[in-house]
Order: sequence, then C-alpha cells, then structure tokens
Amino acid sequence: RKPIVAVVGRPNVGKSTFFNRIAGKRISIVEDTPGVTRDRVYADCEWLNYKFTMIDTGGIEPNSSDVILAQMRDQAQIAIDTADVIIFLCDGKYSYTAADEEIAQMLRISKKPVLLVLNKIDVYHKPDHFYDYYTLGLGDPLLISSANALGLGDLLDEVVKCF
Ligand code: GDP
Ligand code: MG
Repeated sequence: RKPIVAVVGRPNVGKSTFFNRIAGKRISIVEDTPGVTRDRVYADCEWLNYKFTMIDTGGIEPNSSDVILAQMRDQAQIAIDTADVIIFLCDGKYSYTAADEEIAQMLRISKKPVLLVLNKIDVYHKPDHFYDYYTLGLGDPLLISSANALGLGDLLDEVVKCF
C-alpha cells in the first residue's frame, strides 16, 4: 500500500493551508466513522515518483480549550496509529507552547519518523526561537511558509526519505 503521511499540530498553525498546498485539488472529505470524533481529509500525493496518501487530522475546530487539548491528543494518536511518517507543524512565528511539548512527547514515544516543521516563516530567516525547538527532541526543525509556498520541496524531500 501507499505510505501514509499525517499532518498534526495545534489549531491555527496552518495544517489545512499546508495540506491544500500539497494536495492541490485532489481532496476528498471522508465522513465521520462511528467512534471517531472528527472528519479526516485525505489526498493522494506524489513527489519525485513517490506516491503517498496525506491526512489532515484536524478537520473540526473546537472552541473550548479542553476540547482542543483532547482533540490534539486524539489527532496525535490517529497519526501515530495510522501514519508511516508524521509532519508535526508548529507556528514558527513563536516559540513552542506547552501543548506542542505534549504532542512532541507522544510522538517521541511512538518511535515513528517525525518531521518537526515551523510554518509561517514567510521570509526566509532563522528566528531567535528556532533553537528553542531543539528542546522538543525531534531533531532539526524545517522552515516553511505554506502561505508563500517556501520550503515545501525541501520538506517533501525529507518526507520521501523516510519511506
Ligand atoms: P489549521 O487550524 O492548523 O488547519 O490552520 P489553517 O490552515 O486554518 O491556518 C490558520 C491561519 O494561519 C489562517 O489564517 C492561515 O491563513 C494562516 N497561515 C497558514 N499558513 C501560513 C503561513 O505560512 N504564513 C502566514 N503568515 N499565515 C499562515
Ligand atoms: Mg485545519
């Protein structure tokens, strides 16, 4: 079967923007299956002759912070259970948050290949808080801008190296 790449991260870090950039128009929305609390969005993708399926795990935007935390744990768990490679998207405009640390810990324990990605780096530079992200124990952060389509090719190169 094709490898599965899952995108996880807090609400508003740009997961859907990133996903839509990579997926183009070939997106299908899959209805909730019983016991799963949210829609997932799948897309067939291709990079350098590698075919894979990408999942945007954050289909619903809850508005209570308890629900958000619970959803992020569910998201990370779905990614851990189903994905071959996990893209952990953070808001590169800022340092990491407590919620980022919590997701990072789940991802580290899983032993799955994880790419730590700082989104919203709209003009290429390493922000001062770039180095903070090493504390998450997930290796070198990659810098992208989903809005401006910067760094996406380098990220996809790293994704397919994990297959
Ligand atoms: P999600 O909740 O993680 O799926 O995040 P969204 O994709 O819905 O994006 C949340 C907000 O961040 C939106 O206002 C996007 O336009 C914005 N956004 C996403 N990617 C970028 C980026 O690379 N740069 C900037 N400046 N804003 C972005
Ligand atoms: Mg989204």
